[in-house]
Amino acid sequence: LLSVKKLEKRFGKRTVLKGVDFSVDQGEVVVIIGPSGSGKTTLLRNLNFLENADAGTMNFKDRQIDLAHPKKDDVHFVRRHSAMVFQNYNLFKNKTAQENIAEGLIYGQGMDKRQALTIASDELKSLGLAAQANHYPSQLSGGQQQRIGIARATVLKPDVILFDEPTSALDPELVGTVLDDMRRLAQAGQTMVVVTHQMSFAKNVASRIVFFDDGQIVESGSPDQVFNHPREERTRQFLGALA
Ligand code: ATP
Repeated sequence: LLSVKKLEKRFGKRTVLKGVDFSVDQGEVVVIIGPSGSGKTTLLRNLNFLENADAGTMNFKDRQIDLAHPKKDDVHFVRRHSAMVFQNYNLFKNKTAQENIAEGLIYGQGMDKRQALTIASDELKSLGLAAQANHYPSQLSGGQQQRIGIARATVLKPDVILFDEPTSALDPELVGTVLDDMRRLAQAGQTMVVVTHQMSFAKNVASRIVFFDDGQIVESGSPDQVFNHPREERTRQFLGALA
């Protein structure tokens, strides 16, 4: 579905992505783990052009894109067929939960406003958040805000959803509610790329684990392989330090 080859990204003199080859197939849940500052977030942000790569190519739904010089139309295409869930939710503060969910349908997909608000309302009901429909982000818990962030991505029916450490800003007792939504999405067959430090989610939900360090993919495999039989010493060290 989506692959990048030889992706490079520099910030000033510092090379943060050092020629990354990464891919995700339809229906896969790829979980990216790795130390802080290794470039995981930067990788995700390059996948939907929130950052501009210095080199590399992307293949997305049979489009071939030069990452260093993407055409406007290609950027729009990728953004139209993907969605991102952010660490800090990035909700519109002056819009209600329902309006936040409807926003992308209206302005991204050109949907009629009433229809978009109905879809948003149905989504809130199915999440058990109907009572919060007219609440503004400041009136919601962090967990609720992130669940709205996920709902906003889901209603777009994107080919792939990119999650950038979706639970790392949350109080520990709220993490579970967000991970439950993500688990349900995964079970429904949604293609997902998830950067997270939640190792139990990685073990239980991922179809594939990518261990990332120092701007590169060190190894990639099934959860059982990476967690129980890591091939690389660097992976063993990282997992050992977590234990
Ligand atoms: P964490 O798990 O802590 O979020 P990460 O693996 O996601 O870490 P990134 O956020 O991708 O790491 O950052 C990789 C490196 O790039 C870091 O050293 C960071 O300081 C640097 N970096 C990220 N964004 C920028 C930027 N906009 N300008 C300059 N340097 C940046």
